[in-house]
Amino acid sequence: MFRRRRGTGRATGERAGPVTAQGPVSDAIGLEGVGREYRRGVVALHPVDLAVPRGRFLAVMGPSGSGKSTLLQCAAGLDRPTAGTVRIGGTELSSLSEAALTRLRRERVGFVFQAHALVPSLSVAENVALPLLLGGTAGTERVRQGLADVGLGERGDAAPSELSGGQCQRVAVARALVTGPDIVFADEPTGSLDPAAARDVLALLRRAVDRDGHTVVMVTHDPVAAAWTDEALFLAGGRVVGRETRPDAAQVGRIMRSLGRAEGVERDGGHERRGRDGGRAA
Ligand code: ADP
Repeated sequence: MFRRRRGTGRATGERAGPVTAQGPVSDAIGLEGVGREYRRGVVALHPVDLAVPRGRFLAVMGPSGSGKSTLLQCAAGLDRPTAGTVRIGGTELSSLSEAALTRLRRERVGFVFQAHALVPSLSVAENVALPLLLGGTAGTERVRQGLADVGLGERGDAAPSELSGGQCQRVAVARALVTGPDIVFADEPTGSLDPAAARDVLALLRRAVDRDGHTVVMVTHDPVAAAWTDEALFLAGGRVVGRETRPDAAQVGRIMRSLGRAEGVERDGGHERRGRDGGRAA
């Protein structure tokens, strides 16, 4: 039903196009040495370099606790890394005040969460308009077009409670795209959907990249979802441990299983050590 166009295959770290003092202008986002350490020396993310060119659909994958959310939060300006720099569309985030960072997130970053996070007291159209209204514009035509784009042109006056879960997530996609952001972060956007609704949402994200040149970074544990992207980045233990260009579901599934096994071995090893050292059973 949906035709997919594959990306160009340029690896995420490769650079093309002119380079300015702020990094290549073609990059939607650039991370240099970005790390996040919590108190008591918990390292959630070891320093990572990552450049995502504009017009790229990237999946971030890895077992639970591997650092995916931390990476996403730091990249999106929702959390401040303890090392390194993040640039969104050439703007370095650490130089921004909280107010400027909030404005940048509202105007230049789109978010899609696992739960659609629509405001229940607002209509569907008002939900899509929200990022524009907060920025001082009505954007009626953009909202109308955005809803039409996700196949909900006739449902603008409905309340979110009148829509299915899949339809709500399509509204969330329209809301994420309405400002024409530099980058869209999607955190398990299909995690609560049935396969058909998931497919619709993934097709919309794919089209946003292919047709409109948007850039999407999607955290997912689902190999089928990753197969819609141009590249999958694998994390384990807070480090980037692999990359797969033009990922296919079977290959991604194998990698995820092997990472899961590796984590299991690490954990079991830890138990065994504790068992020997502390007299506890493995
Ligand atoms: P994922 O999204 O892959 O499940 P996270 O980024 O949530 O992984 O977590 C990575 C690591 O950082 C985990 O070991 C987690 O326990 C730890 N971590 C996450 N948030 C905090 C926090 N606020 N304080 C301390 N440790 C944290």
